[in-house]
Amino acid sequence: MKAVVLKGFGGVEKLELVEDFPTPEPKEDEVLVRVRAVALNHLDIWVRMGALAVKPELPHILGSDVSGVVEKVGSLVKDIDAGEEVIVAPGLSCGRCYDCQNGEDNHCRNYDILGLASRGGYAQYVCVPARNIIRKPKNLTFEEAASYPLTFLTVWNALVEKGGIKPHSRVLIWGGSSGVGVAAIQVAKLFGAFVITTVGSEEKAERCRELGADVVLNHYEKDVVKEVRSLFREGVDIVVDHVGSATFEKSISSLRKGGVLTFFGTTTGSEAKVDIRHLFVREIALKGVYMGRRATLFKITELFERGLLKPVVDRVFPLEEAAEAHRYLESSRHFGKVVLRVD
Ligand code: ZN
Repeated sequence: MKAVVLKGFGGVEKLELVEDFPTPEPKEDEVLVRVRAVALNHLDIWVRMGALAVKPELPHILGSDVSGVVEKVGSLVKDIDAGEEVIVAPGLSCGRCYDCQNGEDNHCRNYDILGLASRGGYAQYVCVPARNIIRKPKNLTFEEAASYPLTFLTVWNALVEKGGIKPHSRVLIWGGSSGVGVAAIQVAKLFGAFVITTVGSEEKAERCRELGADVVLNHYEKDVVKEVRSLFREGVDIVVDHVGSATFEKSISSLRKGGVLTFFGTTTGSEAKVDIRHLFVREIALKGVYMGRRATLFKITELFERGLLKPVVDRVFPLEEAAEAHRYLESSRHFGKVVLRVD
């Protein structure tokens, strides 16, 4: 099969198009999916650079967010048929341990993400466990369907499950134009919250407002903490931080007493200085977020089907131009998701 293969860790030049990579064969409880689209995530860049504690075996195939058509199913798979249009839930878990059986599969002791340690979707075919198959919303194209699983799942976990968002919640979302940002704005608005977000340009600000953001701050021009405090003297209820070093302290300073900082992803670095007194005196909760429960993705998919959530696809590249797509994502010119089309 055709695939974009990682043979070493480093820059975009490490992504190599191969025409004859062995097509995987589904085990008895697996499904072989003919990939039609695969969305990029920042995770892809970290894996490519070999920057994570977990490094995949080489040669590796990136790609966590997959949509496609079922090509073949294993002998134990009874309720999925060849030809069905599907998306793949990106969280891989054993299905047997206590946390899996308790519905908290993202706490599984063997947890993995498609494209992290396991081979992902930058290819014509990918094999996944049958329990990771979700039917594609009919109203979405393959590109649109590939664009939402990882980001919306993570953001839902942050805002709804960890943040306890309510209609009167005040939420600060850093980086509103990113894949995570466009998801967080929409989920927060779905719950009727007041949304403050940050961007780096006026054009992106306008698009965040179109998605429902109430206040958009240009982080190059404004002191975000000061602006938040002038809007709400006591601070906000929830902060969604996927930026890391550059924003972590500011996130804490923006929260009201009893507020919740939800965080994941560290695009500007993973070290932060925290004054512990600021946390306990103001009863701030720090809640780390890593993906989310797979069951949540079924609910999110239903909300896309009903048109209550909308995919935001910025640009589609052919699989062959995966390196160019990585460069584009790294340049931060995008608004929403960057997707590879697989022909
Ligand atoms: Zn498990």
